[in-house]
Parts: sequence; structure tokens; C-alpha cells
Amino acid sequence: MPAFSLADVYRARRRLEGRVTHTPLLQSAALSRIARTPVYLKLETMQPTGSFKLRGASNALARLAERGIRKVVTASTGNHGRAVAHAARVLGMEAAVCMSALVPKNKVDAVDALGARVVIAGKSQDDAQVEALRLVSEEGFAFVPPFDDIDVIAGQATIGLEIMESLPDTAAIVVPLSGGGLFSGVAFAAKRIYEDVAMIGVTMERGAAMHASLAAGRPVLVDEVETLADSLGGGIGLDNQHTFALTQTLADDVVLLNEASIKRGVVFAYREERLVIEGAAAVGIAAILDGRIDVKRGPVVLIVSGLNIDMDLHRRLILEA
Ligand SMILES: *Cc1c(COP(=O)(O)O)cnc(C)c1O
Repeated sequence: MPAFSLADVYRARRRLEGRVTHTPLLQSAALSRIARTPVYLKLETMQPTGSFKLRGASNALARLAERGIRKVVTASTGNHGRAVAHAARVLGMEAAVCMSALVPKNKVDAVDALGARVVIAGKSQDDAQVEALRLVSEEGFAFVPPFDDIDVIAGQATIGLEIMESLPDTAAIVVPLSGGGLFSGVAFAAKRIYEDVAMIGVTMERGAAMHASLAAGRPVLVDEVETLADSLGGGIGLDNQHTFALTQTLADDVVLLNEASIKRGVVFAYREERLVIEGAAAVGIAAILDGRIDVKRGPVVLIVSGLNIDMDLHRRLILEA
């Protein structure tokens, strides 16, 4: 069972005060009409780096700083990399983000603009990971994992506190699911506060490592395939320490969506909610539109997890729809 308690989540919230945004929880008129039950959107898109990852990264870095560690490294090119870079700057720490030479320039520039040192290493994500671990063993950096870490999970869990405090009768929370840091944290906090809240993970049909691992009863590898929900790609780690067990214990359901459905979610968010969101963040909306969420009991809260989508791609999705 969990190596942390609700008290750790409240401590994380104190650490995050003034560093992350207490995001709005807004009722969606259009989705509430479709679902015939109140549907709310928890807008993590409004975090300074455009995703909830800032919560976990900020909590993990603050904990390291408390122990006198001032240099951090990660190998993520996406929302976690941005979050670590931003949190390091806020806390006056040094951050390195390792990337392969194949990472697109816009992603490199985004991390660079946040003041982190970009370290280009090799031609794959694995090469970048090896370089990050070298900085740990040879140069005294601390590695900040994207999800399988108690401090990261406790940071994401503060979303669960905010939801249950704003809307204590929440019947279900719908969470985009990849490595499970977001799901584990939110589910842990929400169920500690109100044990009857249903926790539903949503992910893409192909390449969903957590879903395959839950089905196998242990962490397994999956082939990575391209998806509009790119922030949901990647494995959960064969030596997963926390998020697999937490997700296994706390998930009431895991819903899988195809690409067309995720796309409808992005387009709906734009047309009906006036929100630009990335594919990973649209899975809750898509699951409602597809009738995949049990809405007999409400209110239902959808975590809208991030907005970092390529804007040319976004424009194409809107025009094609
Ligand atoms: C990382 C991420 C997720 C999934 O979070 P996990 O903790 O890996 O499950 C969902 N949405 C967005 C936008 C993300 O960046």
C-alpha cells in the first residue's frame, strides 16, 4: 500500500503555494447537456507551463532543495521537461534537460527559453536517458522522474484536494492516464476524502502501457505508436515502484479511445468551450461524447491536463473537422 499519506498531500500543497495555480473548476454547459448530469472541467491548462506537471515537478524540486540539492536533471522533452525547467528557475536551482538529436527544434527552444540547460545526446530517448543518468552519477545531479515518484505523485494529488474542496459531492473524476502519476495522486487524495468517488482513467487504444500492465497484472512493455495524445505515450517502467500498484488499487474503470475520438475531443473543446487543448487533455471530453462514462451519478469532473499542442496541427484538426 501507499508509501505516503494524505498529510503528505497537504504538505505538498503548502510547498506549492504561490508557485502553481489553483486552477478553475468550471461547469461545461454543453457537456452537461449531452451527459444530462453536471460535467465540470478542471483546467490544468492554466498552469504557467500549460500542464499539471508543474505541480509534481515543483513539489519534487522543493523537497530536493530542502535537502540542499541544487542541480536537477530529466530526460523528458514534453510537459515534464518544461515543468522541471520552470520549477528550477523559480526555486533558483540548476536544471538540465537531456534530449536526443531528433527532438524537434520547437521543443528544444521551449525548454531553452525556460532557462534550463539543454543537453543533446544520441539519437533516441534511451540515449538521452543514459546521458541523464551519467549527469547523476558523475556530476551530482538529482534525477526527477516524470511520474513514478512519491513527491511527484503528492504534487499531482493536490488537484484531488482542490476538486473535493470545491465540489464535495463529486461522483466521478475522469483522468488522462499514462504513467499514472496524475491518476494515482488524484485518486489517492480524492478517495481519502470521499471513498465513494469513482476514479476513471482514460487513454488511447494503441500503445497504452498502463492499461496493458493492468491487464497482465504486472508492468509490461508496449510498442510505442504515434498518437494525437502524444503526452500519454511511453512506458510505465518494468521496475515501477508506485504508480502501477496505486492505479491497480484505485481505478474503478479504464476507458480506451481511438484517434478519431480524441480528435473530436480537441475540436469540441475549441468549438464549444473556446479552449485550445492537446490530445492527451481531450480524452475526458471525448469519453463523455462517446458515451463511455457512466453518468448516472453526477457531478462528473474531467481533468483537462494540458495545452501544449503544435498550433499548426491544431489548426489542421479544426479545419478538417
Ligand atoms: C503527462 C501527462 C499526462 C499523463 O500523466 P501521467 O502521470 O503520466 O499519467 C496527461 N496529460 C498531459 C497533458 C500530460 O502532460
